[in-house]
Amino acid sequence: MSEHVLVINAGSSSLKYSLVDATSGTAAASGLVERIGEEQSHHVHHGPSGDFDDDQPVPDHEAALEAAVRAFDKHGPSLSEAGIVAVGHRVVHGGDRFAAPALVDDELIAAVTDLVPLAPLHNPANLEGIEVARRLFPDLPHVAVFDTAFHQTLPPYAYTYAVPSSWPADYGIRRYGFHGTSHAFVSAQAARVLGREPGDLNVIVLHLGNGCSAAAVRGGVSVDTSMGLTPLEGLVMGTRSGDLDPAVHGHLARVAGQSAEETDRMLNSESGLKGLTGANDFREVLRLRADGDERAQLAFDIYCYRLKKYIGAYYAVLGTVDAIVFTAGVGQHSAEARAAALAGLEPLGIHLDPARNADPSDNVVSTDDSPVKILVIPTNEEWEIARQSVGVLTGG
Ligand code: AMP
Repeated sequence: MSEHVLVINAGSSSLKYSLVDATSGTAAASGLVERIGEEQSHHVHHGPSGDFDDDQPVPDHEAALEAAVRAFDKHGPSLSEAGIVAVGHRVVHGGDRFAAPALVDDELIAAVTDLVPLAPLHNPANLEGIEVARRLFPDLPHVAVFDTAFHQTLPPYAYTYAVPSSWPADYGIRRYGFHGTSHAFVSAQAARVLGREPGDLNVIVLHLGNGCSAAAVRGGVSVDTSMGLTPLEGLVMGTRSGDLDPAVHGHLARVAGQSAEETDRMLNSESGLKGLTGANDFREVLRLRADGDERAQLAFDIYCYRLKKYIGAYYAVLGTVDAIVFTAGVGQHSAEARAAALAGLEPLGIHLDPARNADPSDNVVSTDDSPVKILVIPTNEEWEIARQSVGVLTGG
């Protein structure tokens, strides 16, 4: 029997939803309400009979979820007949309190609220989604699935910054890592593609979307990842800088009188590909680069060079690597980025097959005799959230 989970991902001005069969991963319907609270909102619902758009203003998350419920009523499938067993919520920051998904209750809400200082943009929106959904679906169990949970297995030497030892206890300053739901899904899927047990496999996962992160996964367990206290650390992203000298904050305060808040905002929203080229969308960067734009060429080179450095670092961390897996928008679709990030790594047993790389539909893009397999695997965070939600209910 199919077990459907209504998966909700509430952002600060958006609400994404998906009705997912936890066993097969099939989404019976999905949708997105954007620009919540603005004059003109946008709602698209992908149902069994097609896509439906609605541009009514949506003042808040409650109205957004009500609009989603109305879309299910009008365009299907019927929520009451779908056999929904749970509502699964994406929650960005679980701090060091949540190493696994958990049933939502008042205690969990208090704990996620306590973590707001660590994720001031994300956790309040996630909480809003949970509270609204609990009001609309009071009889269903609600499960919180944390982006940080998969990385709670990092050893202390990987998650501790070399800073005064009181900072972790006083301010929670340590590395947490994000995109955990995607890294968990993709590393397990890599084992399936290779016909191996996840416990026997060492994998480097590269999640390259608007946000980008790398993870070193040993036997199904995350042992290092590139994002840190916040999602700013690590790889070059659409609008985030990734790694940089922490002295930049102090330097800009001294020479430009720039506040910490402004530097923080610029590093998160005005940096990365956007800062380097003006375009945060990787496709646009590729277009500019193809037209001979030097800034776009430099941005592409920086992006791929940073990737290569992390691949090398995680190769050393893992000792032996069975597979390198690319996922998310850039990872799945940019053969150029994959080729540039892996160029010159043949002495490490990493051999890309150019023809397969150009068409990665069979998942494997390495040569047959490549000791390290190179895989392209679409991520599916909604399915992972649905699976983990059912796992919480069944104790699995
Ligand atoms: P995601 O966050 O997973 O939706 O990924 C978004 C990123 O993937 C954006 O930077 C897109 O430009 C990029 N992307 C999507 N499709 C392609 C493509 N065909 N080639 C290169 N980049 C792509």
